[in-house]
Amino acid sequence: MNNLIDETHDPARRSWLASANIEDGDFPIQNLPLCVFEVDGQDARGGIGIGDQVLDLKALALSGLLHGEALDACRAAAQTTLNALMASPPSASFALRKSVSALLSTDSAVEQQVRNCLVAMDAVHFQLPAKIGGYTDFLCSKHHTERNLRLRGSHDGVPPAFFSLPVAYNGRVSSIRPSGQNPTRPWGQFRDANGQVIYAPSRALDFELEMGAFVRHGNQLGEPIRISDADSHIFGLALFNDWSAKDIQWWEQILGPFLGKSFFTNLSPWIVTMEALAPFRVAHSGPDKDDPPPPPHLVNAEDMAHGMFDIDMTASIRTEDMVRSGSPRKLLTATNLRNLHWTFAQMLAHHTSNGCNLETGDFFGSGTVSGSEISSAACMTELTSAGKQAIQVSETEERTWLQDGDEITFHAKARNKGFIPIGFGECRGIVMPAIRY
Ligand code: CA
Repeated sequence: MNNLIDETHDPARRSWLASANIEDGDFPIQNLPLCVFEVDGQDARGGIGIGDQVLDLKALALSGLLHGEALDACRAAAQTTLNALMASPPSASFALRKSVSALLSTDSAVEQQVRNCLVAMDAVHFQLPAKIGGYTDFLCSKHHTERNLRLRGSHDGVPPAFFSLPVAYNGRVSSIRPSGQNPTRPWGQFRDANGQVIYAPSRALDFELEMGAFVRHGNQLGEPIRISDADSHIFGLALFNDWSAKDIQWWEQILGPFLGKSFFTNLSPWIVTMEALAPFRVAHSGPDKDDPPPPPHLVNAEDMAHGMFDIDMTASIRTEDMVRSGSPRKLLTATNLRNLHWTFAQMLAHHTSNGCNLETGDFFGSGTVSGSEISSAACMTELTSAGKQAIQVSETEERTWLQDGDEITFHAKARNKGFIPIGFGECRGIVMPAIRY
């Protein structure tokens, strides 16, 4: 497990780049998240976020400033996806982080040469950071599960299986898009207000505030990854929006979610690495007092002690009216990753526990990160009691479900006393009107 704190996390370390040192910014020198970007029509390449700039890893690889394993890692990350870096031994991304941190720090003797490798963040187009072969979405919040069951009329409580395994379904990779690209309201089958099943544009469009993990190296088909090894297979975390058409999902979900989810998923371009997250590891609270314990093959002392992360997460809305009137975004929810019942290591161990093989670049999500309080409910379904209770989003507007033109933006920040907080960038998308037949 990577809980090594070193000089790259030193809260006293500052960058010669002023924008990296602003208080509570997302991208201080202690973060160094990875992305893939395009600029000026050139080939996509890997980058590292610092302040309001992106460090171009292709330019850095050619600069002569890196050597040895850090140079190899930089070359691997300079490609059109980060898969080659993810497939490298963990020591590679570690070496790259150490070298880049030194180059960007106030102690650097080569500031001007590094400046030549920077590109303004607002001038680049972000791509997906990896070629994702498989995407799985879990359901790890007990609070989300409880509220959803209640809203759908079930009084049986959370099913026993929820406590014995992290529940999941296989998602759709082809419709994952980077932040800033927009979902189109999907058509689908659902029950209308009279109970008739119709095929129409969804009337219950929702967001789901989630955190996902990228797989570093996978496993051979047939060979489960043990819980004690699971954490070492995770490369880093990224914020994402599992856009969902709840009416379509509720009608179709006998086997599992399908068209209610597969129309669009927004992924933040930034992967915050496990190395960067080391100071923000916390103990996993595990099951509540009266909940059944997980089975032994999903329990590990190290994971219980350090397998969770203290990460604040928010979702906000901006409607078209709010854009016109210049109003700021309205906060919809504020939650924390610690609300999850399962750790990412437990999700990964369970995923492979039947021998299913994960591959480098695979992505798996936490499920909606709802907490026990309604202020930390992380989707519209919970916030509006499945569309029955409108919430006020501005002085003049309320919402039950999302309307066309609504922009949803997620942010997240890892915090721990004595360390510089690090952010996840934004995950943003605007609901586009349904296509017209
Ligand atoms: Ca979800």
